[in-house]
This record gives sequence, structure tokens and C-alpha cells, in this order.
Amino acid sequence: EVITVSELARKMNLKANALIGKLMSMGMMVTINQQIDAETAEILASEYGCSVRIVSLYDETIIETEKDRQEDLRPRSPIVTVMGHVDHGKTKLLDAIRSADVASGEQGGITQHIGAYQVAVEEGTVTFLDTPGHEAFTLMRARGAQVTDIVVLVVAANDGVMPQTVEAIDHAKEAKVPIIVAINKVDLPEANIDRVKQQLSEHGLIVEDWGGEIPAVEVSALKREGIGDLLSTLLVQAEIMELKANFSRAAEGKIVESRIDPGRGTVATVLVENGTLKVGDSFVAGIYPGKIRAMFNDRGQKVDLAGPAMPVEIIGLDGVPDSGDPFQVTDGEKLARQVSSKRQELKRVEAARNVKKVTLDNLYDSIQEGEVQELKVVIKGDVHGSVEALQNALERLSTREVRLVAIHAAAGAINEGDVMLASASNALVIGFHVRPTPRAMVTAEKEKVEIRKYSIIYDAVEDIRSAMEGMLAPDL
Ligand code: GDP
Repeated sequence: EVITVSELARKMNLKANALIGKLMSMGMMVTINQQIDAETAEILASEYGCSVRIVSLYDETIIETEKDRQEDLRPRSPIVTVMGHVDHGKTKLLDAIRSADVASGEQGGITQHIGAYQVAVEEGTVTFLDTPGHEAFTLMRARGAQVTDIVVLVVAANDGVMPQTVEAIDHAKEAKVPIIVAINKVDLPEANIDRVKQQLSEHGLIVEDWGGEIPAVEVSALKREGIGDLLSTLLVQAEIMELKANFSRAAEGKIVESRIDPGRGTVATVLVENGTLKVGDSFVAGIYPGKIRAMFNDRGQKVDLAGPAMPVEIIGLDGVPDSGDPFQVTDGEKLARQVSSKRQELKRVEAARNVKKVTLDNLYDSIQEGEVQELKVVIKGDVHGSVEALQNALERLSTREVRLVAIHAAAGAINEGDVMLASASNALVIGFHVRPTPRAMVTAEKEKVEIRKYSIIYDAVEDIRSAMEGMLAPDL
């Protein structure tokens, strides 16, 4: 259901009663506030010579964007997220990198935390997102904002690969973002670098000096050693990826974070992805319009321009957008206001529609409609053995039409990260002898992610098989 009869009538400049009459003649009994689906709306509109176009929130077609010409594209800095197990040194590493900035000498370095920063070394510049961990990464992705080009996976050499290391690997793989490993804490006497490489290989990451393709750099975030190496490796990777952007067009990007500052009003950090942002530009950020009154870089200095991969704090927003919201410069204030009011309307409609992610109940229909060719699942279980057994049993259900893929399978309770990964990837979560944490439950509700709990492998397999065949017994 997409639109109420009264709304459609208003848009078509007709009396609602006329539409109700028309629907009755088509054999449909509806009331004025009833929602009708897209197909019905289309048929109805065509009866009156109107056409209906279904747009979703943040539909790109709402704002006409210029196509980039190949000759306008120039290399840009890579955008990097640091991930890894808790206490393996992500925060320390981000601090060490920040202080490696060559331009920071006399200015006292990057002191502002605006959610992202850019460091310059001789060979080039690298942009880091300042919130480490796969949670922030996947939250952005669930919002449709995949800004990260490269993941730095931090593994402490004394501790080795741990559960959150594996989570991070799966989150990065699912997002198809290349990984560079930073083996940290190599200053410790108990550091065992070979063991880390061995463990990584067990999770499908073969490092370069073992004949694989994953670059690995040894660092000590504490002693600030190996940081230059890490930055060069990132720049080499960026070159291989041929990251490019058009510096001369109107800017577009993503909101990294936003807040209300007591002195300055609403401030937001924008990471420009394409084009150059200028003071005075009109824009839409998520559902809000605005006009850039001032911009500041990650040192708190006023700037007039921000090009691709450069994070800037902006002032001049009419509301507080969410992290991950799209940011686009518009041709004038009027268009910014029009687009934002259109989006506010769409947001209300989408909230009312309660769009569901894939569930066992809607799976068969989605397969029939060709919407699903791959059923993705996140599997959590009480012990490693049962997780593996369930994963094998489920993956064997793959048919010619639908492939079943476990995008993450691990022992432990169903956590918020599992739910966000499922949300970002339109997956189901399956728990075997485990329950979701309270936060995971709240998130699943909000993200409309289905969590199925089982205590017998056979039951899980049968449920999914039946759902794939469209014969699932109704949920009790
Ligand atoms: P995070 O949870 O991954 O962000 O980890 P932190 O950056 O907070 O670091 C966790 C702990 O490890 C802190 O006590 C750091 O001082 C320590 N640590 C981080 N990097 C290193 C390192 O290279 N060598 C040593 N010896 N300790 C480190």
C-alpha cells in the first residue's frame, strides 16, 4: 500500500468521491482514508490520463544530477574505516595516524573531532572515519551510505584473531570492501605475528607474504611505529582501485554526524564524495534543506571549498539530519526546499507503510517476483560445532532459483551488530539455542529484521525449506 485515496485524489486534482466511485466501478470497495497499492494507483490514474511514478525516499531521480564525463575525473583520496576486536588498539591507531599528519606541524595538528579527518603524507592524503568498529560502518550501510573504500583491520599481535575480528571480516566482505591488516602491539614481547597470519588465513584472509592478496603491516600504535608504512599501503591500494571523482561539479556526499551546538545552531559533518562544496551553496541533507553559511575543516579552520573525500563541518542547516543521510547541492534554494518537502512527505508514507525486510513469510513471494535470488542469513549459535552444522545444512537447501548464503556465522548471543548486518544486507537472523540481547531486539524491531530462534536443527532446516517452497505454516 502506497497512498491513501484522499491523497491520490488531491494530487490528481479530483474529488475523493470521484475516485471512490471509479474504484467501485472497478469492483473495489474503499473508504477515503484507505491505502491503495501502486498498481491500483497506476490503473486509476491512467483512467484519468494521469501517470503515476513510484519514488522511494532519497530516490536519485528526484534531483537531476549531471553525468560525470570521463575526462573530468581525477584521483581522490581513499576513505578508510578502522575495525577490529575491542582493546586491539583502534582508537590508539586513529590517534597515532592523526599525529602523523605532515601539515600539522605548526598548527598543532588535528584537534577537532568532527567524525572524520584527513591526513597528508608525502605520497598523498587519506581520509579516516573517526568512529572505529563495524557497528558504525554497518549502520551507515544499512542507511544506504557506503562511503568506506578500504577497511583497516586491527589485530593485536599478543591476542590474535578474536570474535569481533571475525565479525569485522564478515562485515567488510559483505560490503565488498577490501581489507588491509594492521598487526598492532608488535612492541609487546608476547607478540606473535605468524600466529596472527595463520589465524587470518583460517578466515580466508591470506596475507601477501604468505602468497595471498591481503596487505599486512606491522604497527605499534602506542610507539607510533609503522604508521607511515600503513599510510603508504593504503595509498597504493587506492591507486589500484583507481578511486576518482569529479572536482568541478556541484557537491554530493553523506552526512557523517550532526548535532546541535549551543553557540552555532545545527552543525553537521559532511563527507564530500563527488564535486566541490562551496560556501553559499544550497543543499538538501536527508529530509532538510539548507544553505552553507560557513564551513570548517578537521582543525577547526574556516574553509571556503571542500573537494571529494574531504570532511567538513557545515553551518546553515534547517534541521538535524541522520548519520548516513545523503547530502546534495541543489540549483538554488527553491529546489532545495521543494526536494526536502517531497522527502518529508515520502518519509511519512514510508513510515506508515512499515516496509519489511525479507522474512520467511514473504520469502516465497519475493522469490516468485524475482526480488530474491539469494537468501542471506546470519547464524548465531551456542557452540561453534552447532553453528557449523546448521550452516552446512542450510546451505545445502540452495536451489537453482535461490542460493542460501550465510553471510556471518558465529557462536554467541544475537547482538546488535548481527541485526545491523542483516538489515544492511536484507538478511534473516537465525539463532540456535541463543537469544537476542535486549538491544538487538529493539534494533530488530526498528530495522524490521526477522529473528528466528530454534533449538533443533531439523526444525530450522524444515522452516526455511518450506518458506522457499511457499508452504510455510502460518506463524503462531
Ligand atoms: P580499541 O578498543 O580497539 O579502540 O583499543 P584502544 O585503542 O582503546 O587500546 C586498548 C589498549 O591497548 C589501551 O590500553 C592502549 O594503550 C593499548 N594499546 C593500543 N595500541 C598499543 C600498542 O601498539 N602497543 C601496546 N603495548 N599497547 C597498545
